[in-house]
Amino acid sequence: MDTKYIFVTGGVVSSLGKGIISASIGKLLQARGYKVTIQKFDPYINIDPGTLNPYEHGECYVTVDGMETDLDLGHYERFTGIHTTRNNSITTGRIYKTVIDRERHGDYLGKTIQVVPHITDEIKRRMLREEEKDEQLDFVITEVGGTIGDIESAPFMEAIRQLRWQLGRNAVCVHLTYVPYLKAAEELKTKPTQHSVKELQGMGIQPDILVLRTERHLDNALRMKVASFCNVDLECVVQSEDMPSIYEVPVNMQRQGLDAAILRKIGIPVGETPEMKPWHDFLDKQRNAKREVHVGLVGKYNLQDAYKSIRESLNLAGIYNDVKARIHFINSEEITKSNVSEKLDGMAGIVICPGFGNRGIEGKIIAAEYTRTNNIPTFGICLGMQMMVIEFARNVLGYHDANSSEMDTQTPHNVIDMMEEQKSITQLGGTMRLGAYDCEIVKGSRAFQAYNGLTALTKCETPCEVIRERHRHRYEFNNAYKDEYEAAGMKCVGINPKADLVEIVEIPTLRWYIGTQFHPEYSSTVLHPHPLFMDFIKACNPL
Ligand code: GLN
Repeated sequence: MDTKYIFVTGGVVSSLGKGIISASIGKLLQARGYKVTIQKFDPYINIDPGTLNPYEHGECYVTVDGMETDLDLGHYERFTGIHTTRNNSITTGRIYKTVIDRERHGDYLGKTIQVVPHITDEIKRRMLREEEKDEQLDFVITEVGGTIGDIESAPFMEAIRQLRWQLGRNAVCVHLTYVPYLKAAEELKTKPTQHSVKELQGMGIQPDILVLRTERHLDNALRMKVASFCNVDLECVVQSEDMPSIYEVPVNMQRQGLDAAILRKIGIPVGETPEMKPWHDFLDKQRNAKREVHVGLVGKYNLQDAYKSIRESLNLAGIYNDVKARIHFINSEEITKSNVSEKLDGMAGIVICPGFGNRGIEGKIIAAEYTRTNNIPTFGICLGMQMMVIEFARNVLGYHDANSSEMDTQTPHNVIDMMEEQKSITQLGGTMRLGAYDCEIVKGSRAFQAYNGLTALTKCETPCEVIRERHRHRYEFNNAYKDEYEAAGMKCVGINPKADLVEIVEIPTLRWYIGTQFHPEYSSTVLHPHPLFMDFIKACNPL
């Protein structure tokens, strides 16, 4: 079968959930046996979101091949289990950079370089995944960030218009709009949808399928109205009502026939509706989980999206442990020695979050000390692990001035330090250890047990001695102190075999006190929750 292309755009307002809809389409097509990928095109000028403040753009998601990407890629991976790569996250900045580099190289033979056709051609080339032709995909789903009508997104829309024309039935346009409910009038309003579609039509794009985001159920008459005003078949007007969980969305979309409508548009026989049993089993577990486990998220960004993958990993692990993980954000900047017990009161366990820079680190260190001395399950991730290590140096090894050289370049006890080979790199963005690296786990450690339990769910082969996890950091555990740590009870139980870098530390005498230099949260998926999160929640919820 020729590759088919699905374009997902959004109108009216941003944050309508295009990422979740794209991920759901991916999941539903996958359930029908098709090979899919999902890619995101973002209209901003940054080369990648790596240097963006999480307040600007939420979490930065890292792919296996080490690209810092938009958080929607996290949804794609969690829903479908596919591995995305650097070519699944494209920004205007990258498009321009490619074109400008090519121009400097003389590849355009003296031509004037213009938005149309040069920029749009480069967008098209990437939308078609020309570089990855050997992937032999059945479907490429392309989500375009932002909303139509934005000045920035115009070249992307033009590229879609041209591709629609070129690909004929092999392309389908899905457009998401918002249908607001006006309380005072007690009415659902379709006008914004009509305007949004008109705007799209003005760019030469007729949407095939409309997904209407709504808080209230839309009746048939209303769908009919939208269909007739927007030149769309009634069966192609799908509603996406608010759901209690984003993981209900694929099933709801299947019920509404979104995948069937896509196949019909393309001219592929629809066949039977796939059962998706594992997904339904997961949803049942989610609906039935009643008991709550309270987990504190000690970090500095008080924003849902800033620690998206960690939150989802905890949720997923909770569900598979038959509990609801109740996540409480605890601002590390507000934690002091005198209020820590109050701040962490009622938490069955805490996660010390990743991060960069000085702000809020002392609060993380105080939290790590409190949970270590009170034997509360603690999971330190990346900077969180580094803070556990610093805390241990200060309060157990007796190095009161211990620090990371990221925070204090002069510290005489640099228990976290930059590796020699990283030091020479100065350009922002490209300087970090990024992407997946191997890690050998010490047999018999708690981390080893976690990775070797629940193997059917967590995809690990038994015995699982070498794992591969994703990284995003510059600083490392300083091996000069390793023996002292081990002797005092903090064990280095995960090691990168090539570079001899410490990847996992734990205190085996405590209930659950593990820090990872890598980011396990990037590889939790709905059908395969991450073993460390699974084990952590289990420790928070002793039966
Ligand atoms: N700032 C730390 C480093 O660069 C940790 C980074 C992180 O938590 N992702 O090593």
